[in-house]
Amino acid sequence: MSETNVYNVQGSYRLRIPFSFDCKTDGCTETIQTVTDGRQPVCPQCARTYDPEKAIIELADQFPDEDEVEDGELYSWADHDSCSGVWFERGAATITIWGKGKGGISGVKTIEEAEEFVQELADELGAEITEDIEYNNMTMKWNLDGKVALRDAFMLLDYDEMQYEPEQFPAISCKDKVTGSHIFIYSTGCVVVVDIVEPEVGEEIFNRVKKDVEEYELYIEL
Ligand SMILES: [Zn+2]
Repeated sequence: MSETNVYNVQGSYRLRIPFSFDCKTDGCTETIQTVTDGRQPVCPQCARTYDPEKAIIELADQFPDEDEVEDGELYSWADHDSCSGVWFERGAATITIWGKGKGGISGVKTIEEAEEFVQELADELGAEITEDIEYNNMTMKWNLDGKVALRDAFMLLDYDEMQYEPEQFPAISCKDKVTGSHIFIYSTGCVVVVDIVEPEVGEEIFNRVKKDVEEYELYIEL
């Protein structure tokens, strides 16, 4: 039941990815086999060492570029100048992997979708998931039973860091006192909560908001 209200999931995990790349030392043509376990890749021929954060971007070359795929198909890219991870994208879903195997996922709508995409990519890379996904910034959304009188709500509700500036933003912005999660209450009755670690926690926050809206009689008669 709670899963249906999740509409943006972010998480991090760890992958042990085996991969290889060519030594770039003059005269050395050795292929270096490595794995994202935090160790520094070393060329067995010339003994040159590589920064794992730079070596990882070679993974992007194993996958098509954005202009080589249809919408919704998997592609990969890396910024060879900044060397800050390798990106795998499919539709709105994005996976980023750093040189020591730390991975991130964002832009997915459900936990199932996150787990499927990470598993699929791990299979594709011949990688092992060594730390399961830990969700750190989930966004959830619900609808209250009617429209809300925001000006009254702003005066009556007791949340942390309450803000309501209708000419700038059409919602009350505040923080849940228990979890510190950020809550947005719109006049349409839409409630959005960000910074959630588990859907169950989001449900608890929403239920507190709903109870308050009912108790303070903040629904606008339609
Ligand atoms: Zn070498």
